[in-house]
Amino acid sequence: MAERSESDSRNLLGRLRDTLAEEGPAQARLDRITHLIADSIHTEVCSIYLFRDADTLELCATEGLRPEAVHQTRMRVGEGLVGKVAKTAEPVNTEDAPSMPGFRYMAETGEEIYSSFLGLPIQRLGETLGVLVVQSREKRTFTDDEIYALEVVAMVLAEMKELGAFVGEGAALAAPHQRSEMFHGTVGQEGTAEGHVWLHEPRVVVTNLVADDPEAELERLDQAVERLRVGVDEMLQSVSTADKDQRDVLEAYRMFANSRGWMKRMQEDITRGLSAEAAVEKEQSTARARMQVVADAYLRERLHDLDDLSNRLLRILTGQGKHTGAEMPASPILIARNIGPAELLDYGRSLRGIVLEEGSVGSHAVIIARALAIPLLVHAERITTEALNGDHVMVDGENGIVHLRPDESVVTAFRDKMAMQAEAQKRYVTLRDKPAETRDGIRIALHMNAGLMADLPSLDSSGAEGVGLFRTELQFLVRDKMPRRGELVQIYDQVMDAAHGMTVQFRTLDIGSDKVLPYMNPTDEPNPALGWRAIRVGLDKPGVMRMQLQALIRAANGRPLTIMFPFVAQFDEFRAARDHVFRELEREASLGHVLPENIEVGAMLETPSLAFAPRQFFEMADFISIGGNDLKQFFFAADRENERVRRRYDTLNVSFLSFIEQIVERCRDVGTRLSFCGEDAGRPVEAMCFAAMGVRTLSMRPASIGPVKHLLRRVDLAEARAVINQARAGGSMSVRPAIRGWLTGLRS
Ligand code: PEP
Ligand code: MG
Repeated sequence: MAERSESDSRNLLGRLRDTLAEEGPAQARLDRITHLIADSIHTEVCSIYLFRDADTLELCATEGLRPEAVHQTRMRVGEGLVGKVAKTAEPVNTEDAPSMPGFRYMAETGEEIYSSFLGLPIQRLGETLGVLVVQSREKRTFTDDEIYALEVVAMVLAEMKELGAFVGEGAALAAPHQRSEMFHGTVGQEGTAEGHVWLHEPRVVVTNLVADDPEAELERLDQAVERLRVGVDEMLQSVSTADKDQRDVLEAYRMFANSRGWMKRMQEDITRGLSAEAAVEKEQSTARARMQVVADAYLRERLHDLDDLSNRLLRILTGQGKHTGAEMPASPILIARNIGPAELLDYGRSLRGIVLEEGSVGSHAVIIARALAIPLLVHAERITTEALNGDHVMVDGENGIVHLRPDESVVTAFRDKMAMQAEAQKRYVTLRDKPAETRDGIRIALHMNAGLMADLPSLDSSGAEGVGLFRTELQFLVRDKMPRRGELVQIYDQVMDAAHGMTVQFRTLDIGSDKVLPYMNPTDEPNPALGWRAIRVGLDKPGVMRMQLQALIRAANGRPLTIMFPFVAQFDEFRAARDHVFRELEREASLGHVLPENIEVGAMLETPSLAFAPRQFFEMADFISIGGNDLKQFFFAADRENERVRRRYDTLNVSFLSFIEQIVERCRDVGTRLSFCGEDAGRPVEAMCFAAMGVRTLSMRPASIGPVKHLLRRVDLAEARAVINQARAGGSMSVRPAIRGWLTGLRS
């Protein structure tokens, strides 16, 4: 019996393929398909229901029900047995449909005489497009084999490109990957962008769904799976035992690649007439459908792994690599599950926007996207499954929203918003050469943060007065091996050249915590942000820090040099690091190198403890820069990368502002130069409040200089200060509402 049904279903698939290949009106072909299925499965009725919109299904073709009902009969998702299949994406199989809970017959179809009912979802890559139903008068329960065969048929049906055309007059059925969708993500880099999807890892296109020679297909599958297993084993061998996360993922890959169940299901699909790649895709589709409903994060991750593995297998079977020959569209918006910093740099400024399914706001890719000022969202779930190369897409990096294939109203509203931003940008350009001077005559120096060669052109275009933070670790992060001293000399030399004599505050390597170098042994720390990082590594293992100091001295080659140490928690650490600088100066001099004309050594204030350091620290430091990103996370004990707590404490919280004020006073007492270089310096309202507390230098992303300057030039800082003081005295938790109210008053 099983054998007969296998050959039946192969026959059916063959006939189906011929029908699909036929020319002619789409409706006629769909009608023929229902006829074929009913004939082959020996039922009186076969019907196809498709989604008309997100909530409604429509009868689009039938063999056996009344023809007048086609394109007339509709039901809501969840309504009746057909609606139930659509809602749950699970088959309903009963010999006595009328007795089923939720049964509801549609009188106009004449279906009341049929007792047995089998309904299956028509799915493509985890997305339900409609429902395939067979019915018969005779009471019968459909066998597992029959269900299986129909599932395969449903999958082939789902591949029909023109499914959308089958819906009634004027109705716009959003066929797979055609309807507009909205995704929510977390903002990694603000900004808005409109463009077309460019998939970092394009989906494999399967064109041959049905195959005539199952033996040959089984052989192909075997060989491909074998290659896949070898590949996974090789990857596992190449990963260091210390890299636990990557090993976990690869171990999961290996488990799936050796899973008998997975293999058996694909083999069964092939025996029923699918090609090897269609069988893989069918399994992938099932995994995706499950992925959308499982709540458990670990399980979802594993299903994601299976999805990845299926993609690899499809690439082996079809020979399609990452480069499918597709041309990058104009205004590309990169969509990926995740991306490494080096890969992102390869794309460079050609990208208009980036949307990632994973990633975190502190990841290297995000740091790079920020440096390149490309709007970026992370955690946009399902986007890689839904987006197709070339799709129209709009990224709203203010509100963390992606509009995929947006409809007209969204396009219009979004373009209006972009036009307003462009207007503002024009205004900022006119401010480029004007000082950031407040109404009451206080000059604030605006510097930029940098770290990549790609940042250098911004030195000219932004109107920055210097580089307040050069994150040297970015040059280390984007490489797959430790850069040599000579390379660093070249890079630092170019940076100083581009600065045309303006100050560049080179921050020594800040690794550890979220910044892990791929070529250094990861340390397994329970709490890396509070662990062995930045200057702690530099002092304990000074080799790399010394090499970096030598490179900086050589690159300066007689020019002034400014060096800043990250993550200093106590005076001793600063003194020891500073001693290294002077030791290296001596060494370089003894080797005959020209020494910098002037050298300044400063510290980043990123831990609350440093604000309470002895006066001698403030006297010894040539300057101090507040690293607000870290300072804020330690001040409030709220992880800067943890979405749950990140925004819980406002930067304009009175405690934090009062703390900044104390730091200002301590620096003022001994005449130590002070700046603020965390992300908040680039937010106009925050920047203005820091200035009101007495900070006179702010360092930020180049793109923020215009907006910050624009606001500073419009306000009276003494007034702002009075508003802040009043809010503090009144017991407010944050001064934001008071400042916002005051700014609104200014505008009107
Ligand atoms: C900071 O902590 O504010 C800072 C500027 O350093 P980073 O963001 O690189 O840790
Ligand atoms: Mg920091």
